[in-house]
Amino acid sequence: TIATYGDMIRVPGRRGSLERLRAGGADVRVVNSTKTALQLARDNPARQVVFLGVGFETTAPATAIAVLEAEREGLENFSVLMCHKLVIPAMLALLSSGDVPLDGFLCPGHVSVIIGARAYQPIVAQHRRPCVIAGFEPEQILRGLINLVRQVAEGRAEVENVYAAVVSEQGNATALGLFERVFVPEDTAWRAIGVIPQSGQGLAPPYRRFDAVERFGLTLGEDEDHPACRCGEVIQGKTEPADCALFGTACTPLHPVGPCMVSSEGTCAAWYKYHRR
Ligand code: SF4
Repeated sequence: TIATYGDMIRVPGRRGSLERLRAGGADVRVVNSTKTALQLARDNPARQVVFLGVGFETTAPATAIAVLEAEREGLENFSVLMCHKLVIPAMLALLSSGDVPLDGFLCPGHVSVIIGARAYQPIVAQHRRPCVIAGFEPEQILRGLINLVRQVAEGRAEVENVYAAVVSEQGNATALGLFERVFVPEDTAWRAIGVIPQSGQGLAPPYRRFDAVERFGLTLGEDEDHPACRCGEVIQGKTEPADCALFGTACTPLHPVGPCMVSSEGTCAAWYKYHRR
C-alpha cells in the first residue's frame, strides 16, 4: 500500500503516475496527514504501508514524528520513502553553478518558519544575493518584492524578514530538533537538475529500518523526463515556461508532462493560470 499526499498522485514518472497505477489496480491511498498513514498501517497489519515522504522543511517534521511514533508502537509494517529536500543547499548549489540570472530571492514563509531567517545568511555572505522572507497574502508578497527590488537597486545584499510575525530568527526549535534526531543530510537527486550534495534528508541510523528503500531492497533509477520538457531550466530561472514547446499544448495542469505543471505551486502551473500569452 502506498500512502501519499494528494499533490504527488499526478506527478508523471517513468511508468506513469500513481493515479494511473491506481486505476490499474495498485493500492494507492491519498492521505492528508502522516497520522492517517500510520492509521492505515495499524488497520492493515498484514500489509506493508509505504508513506511517500516528500516536500521541504515544511512537511518533514510530520514525517519525523510518524517515524518516531512507528518506532514507539513497534509498527513494523510502516515505512517511508524518503524524498524530503532542503532549501538552503539547493539555493547555494544553484548560485554556485555560475550562470544563473537571479538578482535575489523572495524566500518562502512556510519553509522560513521552520529554518528561521538566519538560515539564509550563507546566501548573502557567499553569493551577495538579497533574501527577503515574505508571507503568501498578496500584500505580503508585494511588500517582499518591494524590499527585494530596493535592495537590488541600492546594491545591498541582506536577509530581510517582512514576515516577522510568523518567522523568527532561529526558526522552530522543536522541528529543527526533530530533524537533528531522526534525519541525516544526504546527497540527493533533484528532478530535472541532478544530484545536489547534502540537499536531502535521509533517516538516521537508529531509524533506518523504517526506510522503504532499505526494507524492500529498492534501487531508485534515474528520472526520465520528456526530452522536450525544460523544467530544469525553468526551476533555475534560465527560461520561462512559455518558452517550452509543450507549454499549454501537450502540457497543461489537466495533463501535466513535466513536474513543474503538476501542483498549483509549480512554476509552469502558476504561469499557465496567471500568465498565459
Ligand atoms: S510546460 Fe510542461 S513540459 Fe514544459 S517545462 Fe513546464 S512542466 Fe516541463
